[in-house]
Formats: sequence, structure tokens, C-alpha cells
Amino acid sequence: MEADRRTIVLGLEGTAWNLSCALVDEEDVIAEKSATYVPAKGGIHPREAAQHHAEHMASVVKAVLDVAREDDLKIEGVAFSQGPGLGPCLRTVATAARALSLRFGVPLVGVNHCIAHIEVGKWKTGATDPVVLYVSGGNSQVLALRRGRYRIFGETLDISVGNALDKFARQVGLPHPGGPKLEGLAKSAKEYIPLPYVVKGMDFSFSGLSTAAAQAAKKHDLADVCSSFQETAFAMLVEVSERALAHAEKKEVLLVGGVGANSRLREMLNIMCEERGAKFYVPEKKFMGDNGSMIAYTGLIMMKSGVTTPLAESRVRPGYRTDEVEVTWQ
Ligand code: AMP
Ligand code: MG
Repeated sequence: MEADRRTIVLGLEGTAWNLSCALVDEEDVIAEKSATYVPAKGGIHPREAAQHHAEHMASVVKAVLDVAREDDLKIEGVAFSQGPGLGPCLRTVATAARALSLRFGVPLVGVNHCIAHIEVGKWKTGATDPVVLYVSGGNSQVLALRRGRYRIFGETLDISVGNALDKFARQVGLPHPGGPKLEGLAKSAKEYIPLPYVVKGMDFSFSGLSTAAAQAAKKHDLADVCSSFQETAFAMLVEVSERALAHAEKKEVLLVGGVGANSRLREMLNIMCEERGAKFYVPEKKFMGDNGSMIAYTGLIMMKSGVTTPLAESRVRPGYRTDEVEVTWQ
């Protein structure tokens, strides 16, 4: 594939709550259409989410294909999130992606969802070689590129920070997703309540924190507990990011994933970066949470580096780890 020619790739995301289809080229997002699954009660139910994605697949794909048709654009590849994610959701998305690839007679590209968060973050901020803090509903990891792979320097030993926030929110009667609600409540906090701070080596744990916070909410002001939860969880993430920065000898930090929308987390990371003389990058909010553009863009750079996914290798990978992927595009 020629390096200087415009390439257009369609991407499909649907690892969990957001079904999203997008069309991108090297420069920008051309179109994106999403449909969000909101659980009737409780957290995300994998089969219900998959059912949601199946019901909305035709309409989100059609919206994007309409743009391609109107602008007479030639789609040259179909990228899809191959994992990690919820099995039933991944299978729904992969089935649609295979059908589209066959329909257009163009290559399929299976994309690692975590790497897509990183690559879209780099694309949209101009970060080149950062330590990445990836914090979402399903994952919490500190990563950096080393010898051709995104190595995981530290990660959660149990649940993700987003999941911990959402779980705690549910326990105190707040609707899903809890993260933004807790952030709002935390603004009127007056007192700090000590909660379990768990960093083991380079890994962190959030399950005990979530439980302890739910207990604390029975006897303390909810705003104080929300704020203390955030302070404790984010300090753990910042500590590990700082150590990864020093160890990997990087000069940039990139924050990605839905929890990255939190202004207190950004503030804390920013302070750490200033103290260390590192540059801090955060993409626009629409590129932080799960989105189709990140899959389409990562598929595009993979394809341009010569990587595609034969049908026989397109099975979904619910436990797909970033360090399994050889980074051929940088
Ligand atoms: P993702 O899986 O990357 O789409 O991110 C979803 C997660 O981000 C959920 O756990 C949300 O509760 C969390 N989240 C979204 N906005 C915020 C916020 N402002 N503060 C903390 N967490 C948030
Ligand atoms: Mg995600």
C-alpha cells in the first residue's frame, strides 16, 4: 500500500456498553455513529448488551455507509475490536465485521481494544512515546511501548477502577455509570476519610476499596466518601504511573479510557508530570471512552504496516492482552 495515498477504513467497536461504527482516513474521523446500551438496573449484562448491539448494528452501520456513498468514498478495510471484552458482545461485532469485509471484498483487521485506546490518544494529542494510563470500565493498566510491544508495567489485581466506582455507586443507590455521578458529589466534600490504599509492586487493587467505601457511606457524609474514594484510587494510579515513567525513561504521559474524563484524576496526573518534567496528554472526551473511530484508526495504521486478519484467525479474544500484539506500525 502506498504511504501517501488516502486510505479509508471502517471500524466497529462493541466490547461492552457502546456499539459504534466509524469511518476514518489518516487525517481525521469522517463519520461515526453509536448506540449506547444502558442497563435497566445493575451493571452491564453481557448477553443483554450483545442483544442491544445486534438490534442496533444495521442502523449504525447504515448511517456510516450512507456517508461513504454520498461522498463517493471507497472503503479499503474493515476493522473490528477483537478483544478484550465481553464474549457475547465481541461475537456480535465480529460477525458483522466479517460480513462487511466479504461484502466489500476488502481485508479484515482484528484490533486489540486497549491498543486502540492508546493509538487514538496518540493520534489526537500528538504524544509520540508515552507512558499510558488506561483506565476504563473493564481495564486499568499502566503501559509503555518497549521493544516492539505495549508492555504492561502495572495493572489491577482484581476489578478495574471504573468498575470499582460503578459498583460503589450502585451500592449507595446511584445509577450506572457511577463515575461521573461520584465526581459531581465529590465536589462538595469537606472531610477526608481514610480508605484502603493497595499497591503491590507495580500492581493495584480496587475491590477492597469499593467495599470499604460502601461501608463508610453508612456512617459518613456521601460527598466525603466519594471524594475520599477518588483521592485514594487516583493516588494509587498516579504512584504506579510515576514509577513507570522513571523506570521506562519516558518523557510523556497519556491518559486514556472512560475514567480519564475525571478532572481530579487529570489534575493529579498533571501535578506529577510537572514535578517530573514530563508532558501530559489527554485526548478530547469523545475519544476517551469506547468509540468506533479508535478501532477504525488502529485498523488503518495496522493495515498500512501490512497487517490484516484472515477469516480463519478472526475468532474473538475476550482475554486479548496488549503485549500479545507486535507493534508493526511504529
Ligand atoms: P470505558 O469503558 O472506557 O468506556 O469507560 C467507562 C467507565 O468510565 C465507567 O466505569 C464510568 O463510570 C467511568 N467514567 C466516566 N466518566 C467518569 C468520570 N467523570 N469520573 C470517573 N469515572 C468516569
Ligand atoms: Mg475501553
